[in-house]
Amino acid sequence: MADVHSPEIRRYNMSQIKGKGTKSEELVRKYLFSKGFRYRKNDARLPGKPDIVLPKYKTVIFVNGCFWHKHEGCKYFIWPKNNAEFWKRKISANVERDSRNYEQLLQLGWNVLIVWECELKKDVFQETMGTLIQKINQKALSIDT
Ligand SMILES: [Zn+2]
Repeated sequence: MADVHSPEIRRYNMSQIKGKGTKSEELVRKYLFSKGFRYRKNDARLPGKPDIVLPKYKTVIFVNGCFWHKHEGCKYFIWPKNNAEFWKRKISANVERDSRNYEQLLQLGWNVLIVWECELKKDVFQETMGTLIQKINQKALSIDT
């Protein structure tokens, strides 16, 4: 299979490698805030320091970069060709750490929601946020009943 990526995707990957992930978290926070949700940021008391914590809904949200957190099947996740071994170790360690954190959070009774960076692109942003809010509210309902 040819490994051809458009300049747009390559640029996106590079920006991920440089670790500019904070803007995505802010997009989600701003949206939730505008809808009346109140949250804590990067709560260090919880496993994995979730990006967004909604105590009232017993829900945490991680906004994950597709590269760093290995978004399976996503066109924005590709194994770098240079230093392949290094990246394999690094990314695999991230993925293992993620699943440990999610597991612990679930055991503590938190609802864990993941938003991927590729789901925040302009053309899909509204849809992603709609689904997210639905999931947050579902959890709220299940607590009430
Ligand atoms: Zn993705």
